[in-house]
Amino acid sequence: MSAERTGNRSTPGAAKEPPLAFIRSLYHVLDRHYGDLRWWPGETPFEVAVGAILTQNTNWRNVEKAIENLKKENLLSPAAINASEDGRLETALRPSGFYRVKAKRLRAFANYLVRFCGGTMEGLMAEGAGEIRAKLLTIHGIGEETADSIVLYGLGKPVFVVDAYTRRILERHGISEARESYGAVQRLFVEALPKSPAVYNQCHALLVQVGKDYCRKEPRCDSCPLSGLNSPPGAGGKP
Ligand code: SF4
Repeated sequence: MSAERTGNRSTPGAAKEPPLAFIRSLYHVLDRHYGDLRWWPGETPFEVAVGAILTQNTNWRNVEKAIENLKKENLLSPAAINASEDGRLETALRPSGFYRVKAKRLRAFANYLVRFCGGTMEGLMAEGAGEIRAKLLTIHGIGEETADSIVLYGLGKPVFVVDAYTRRILERHGISEARESYGAVQRLFVEALPKSPAVYNQCHALLVQVGKDYCRKEPRCDSCPLSGLNSPPGAGGKP
C-alpha cells in the first residue's frame, strides 16, 4: 500500500483530507445526519443470503417480490432450493430479473450449504470471516460484494461491503480512482474504521442512503451533508 493510501501523507497547506481521515469524517458526518440506519432486511440468515444474491442488477422491491414467491412456494430453504425443479424456481424468481441466471446462482449456493454445511447457514459460521469469504467466492455466481454481504449481514461477521455508491462517492472526492480494485477500496474502510460488524453495517447503510439521496448520476452537492469534505464536483470542480 502506498504512502498515499496509509493516510499518513500530509501536504503542508493542503485543505484536502488524506484517505483514512476522509473516511472517518465521512462516517461521523453521515452518522450524525442520518442516525442509526443499520439494515438488511431478512427474517433468517438464509433469507438475507438469498436477498444478497437476488439483489444483483435490480432494486430491492423486486427482490422482496421474489422472496415472497419463494415463501409461498415453500422454497425458502437450502434443501428446498437444492431439490427444486428449474421451472418452479425460475418462476418464483421472475420478479427479480435475470431469473434464469439467478436460479442457477441460488441453486449453487443452496447446493454448497447442503453438501458442506449440513444444509444450514449455521454450518458456515464455525470459521472466521476470511475463510468463509474465500469459500463463498468459489461458488458459481458469487462475487466479492455478494460474498461480503452474506458474511456481514447474514452471519454478523466483520467484513466491509463495497458497492457502486461507495466507489462513486470516494471517486468524486478524489479518494480513489474508477479502476481501483474492490480489495483496495475495502482496505481503506478496514484501516479507517473500528473492526466491528455494527460499524461496517452502519457505514455501508449510510453510504447507500447518501448515494440514493444526493450522490446520484447527477450529484446534488449543494444540499449534501458531505459537501464540506474535500472538494466534490458541485463545489468548484474536481478535487
Ligand atoms: S453529492 Fe456531492 S457532496 Fe455528496 S457525496 Fe456526492 S460528490 Fe460528495
